[in-house]
Amino acid sequence: MGVKSLDDLLSEGVRGQRVFVRADLNVPLRDQAVTDDSRLRASLPTFRKLLAAGARLIVASHLGRPKGQRVAALSLRPVAAQLAKLLGTGVAFCEECVGESARSAIDELGDGRIQLLENLRFHAGEERNDPDFSKALAALADIYVNDAFGTAHRAHASTEGMAAHFDRVAAGDLLDSELRHLRVIREPIRPLLVILGGAKVSDKLSVLEALAPHADVLAIGGAMAYTFIAANGGATGNSLVEPDRFGDALAVQRAARDAERRLLLPSDHLVADRFEADAPTRVVAEIPEGVIGLDIGPATASRYASEAANARTIFWNGPLGVFEMEAFAAGTRTVATAVADSPATSVVGGGDSLAAIHQLGLGNRIDHLSTGGGASLEYVQGLKLPGVAALER
Ligand code: ADP
Ligand code: MG
Repeated sequence: MGVKSLDDLLSEGVRGQRVFVRADLNVPLRDQAVTDDSRLRASLPTFRKLLAAGARLIVASHLGRPKGQRVAALSLRPVAAQLAKLLGTGVAFCEECVGESARSAIDELGDGRIQLLENLRFHAGEERNDPDFSKALAALADIYVNDAFGTAHRAHASTEGMAAHFDRVAAGDLLDSELRHLRVIREPIRPLLVILGGAKVSDKLSVLEALAPHADVLAIGGAMAYTFIAANGGATGNSLVEPDRFGDALAVQRAARDAERRLLLPSDHLVADRFEADAPTRVVAEIPEGVIGLDIGPATASRYASEAANARTIFWNGPLGVFEMEAFAAGTRTVATAVADSPATSVVGGGDSLAAIHQLGLGNRIDHLSTGGGASLEYVQGLKLPGVAALER
């Protein structure tokens, strides 16, 4: 059992074959124009290889949340135009993703030519993983390639259901690269340092549970830390705390202790009276009544930074403070810089975490930036992603 790579698929020949690529072209649009085409650029290597090999390339994606309705503002048509620019070749667009019009558009497709289909989520069958919709999609092609890592943790028709209809399936280069890099976190060169931040324990509970016994060091920051501190009887003032998660936080600490792993909590904090960019701040070891913890303190930041320097593998998800406001960005900056400077293999995942890394200009000094927030968290927990399992033969 294994997942075939795109290169292996190509070596078997794809010329003249109709190859369906499930890509992630879910880009931000404004006034019918793509405002950030990084997801399109990331998809180009797979498209280029297939086109160069003479495949008749059919590309499909979701865009936004149309919830099974045709929503004009969520049409992929502007994406076809932008893709054509990036590829330097015409990209045909079909206003349907299944049925007669899609089929006849594909019939006209020449070898080494590309056809983009309309938003998969205009059909309710996509997210429902409807067998008839899966069959209708599969009827369009001879070969199936999944390159949409960001939706691989969802069993949808285009990510899971349709794959069963094909003998020839493969992972695209983007999906393959995500799996290779994230596997390093599951099977790390130790010591493995996991840095988890962000707003809530409840958002990340299963990651905490899975990684507390797995990581040599689990360093916690962000608002999530206050739930841990409060659960242990510490003072948290007006910081964000989830009292209904105290039991879970204590269980995570216990799991780390039982596995003889180290779980680190902040020992100092940057606090302010108000959650506002210009609020005066100060550093405290214990959070007084009436103030809010908005960043880890400098001593904590340098402790976590030296853990990063000593690690051989690092996984980071979740900013350590409210990095969007400069006044509360120092903790995230110090630790991010240490992760970039560390000789360890480093992987960063999560929408806000990537935004922080890019904001700091550190993107090219991290070994892997994982584009699929939810999917990468599920994968590093050791969960099977339905979109990947469907490719196993
Ligand atoms: P990611 O998108 O990388 O997975 P999350 O969405 O879990 O990260 O968390 C990011 C959010 O957590 C950011 O918007 C940040 O402002 C917020 N955050 C971090 N620390 C705090 C804090 N101390 N108080 C309130 N919000 C925080
Ligand atoms: Mg987020």
